[in-house]
Amino acid sequence: MNWITNYVRPRINSLFSRRDVPENLWTKCPECGTMLFHRELSDNLNVCTNCDHHLAITPRERFAALFDGGVFSEVKVPEPLADPLQFRDQKKYPDRMKAAQKSTGEKEAMLVAEGEMGRTPVILAAQDFSFMAGSMGMYVGNAIIAAAERAVALRRPLVLFSAAGGARMQEGILSLMQMPRTTVAIEMLKEAGLPYIVILTHPTTGGVTASYAMLGDIQISEPGALICFAGPRVIEQTIREKLPEGFQRAEYLLEHGMLDRVTHRKQLRDELISVLRMLGGLPAPTRADLPPPEPAAEIATAEEKPAS
Ligand SMILES: [Zn+2]
Repeated sequence: MNWITNYVRPRINSLFSRRDVPENLWTKCPECGTMLFHRELSDNLNVCTNCDHHLAITPRERFAALFDGGVFSEVKVPEPLADPLQFRDQKKYPDRMKAAQKSTGEKEAMLVAEGEMGRTPVILAAQDFSFMAGSMGMYVGNAIIAAAERAVALRRPLVLFSAAGGARMQEGILSLMQMPRTTVAIEMLKEAGLPYIVILTHPTTGGVTASYAMLGDIQISEPGALICFAGPRVIEQTIREKLPEGFQRAEYLLEHGMLDRVTHRKQLRDELISVLRMLGGLPAPTRADLPPPEPAAEIATAEEKPAS
């Protein structure tokens, strides 16, 4: 042993193995293949700057962009029983949960928050596809019920962003139970006369499209989103026929009357504010960076006249 092996070599190693830069600085657009710099991509709300393809965005990033000043408070969701079936495939269900929690930094596949959007009080709920494919288990059911109850208590509209691969198979029948549970929760909003708006994002599939994701007073989708109960591959294999181009995509569904709007992510905030204020009987939002409307100018001159 000498000072070279003990001191110099570790120092040299640490110099060369040091990695201050994260490895995922660049993201490849799955649609056009353009390499997108992470900063540029997040500034553009994870929409490709070259082809407008909408990449996935986490609920937290979405809320930061939607709520005024990015300020919101989370609505508490009651914790369900963990691993009720002691489910195990290649991995134990609790191990899968832990891995998902570690990779996303979130507790579960849905985030609920309250705040203001364009000075309009609102409850937002967003499903996280990066968390076990956004699968609908008991927690997601609880989250939607908590969101609906909070909306009714505060008399606010609820806007829900769906993204899911379907029900969470690790919870078996208990995950399927979330379909009627969430349907009843949405019914509570309707009885209270409060708007419920669904924004379908890529991909919204399975049991989610058989319950709360299809019950909105207004159904909006992000461009290019896959929205279906059974996926195109399953249908093709069953009916042994080639499906039309763009089948089950947002634009196709809009053309066939399944959706009300397909809206670009960057226009979504303004559109939601207009719709929510319209449904809530509130005056249209005024933007400070635009000149005031004509009547206001007339009033100002009329008031000035007597003084002169
Ligand atoms: Zn692209």
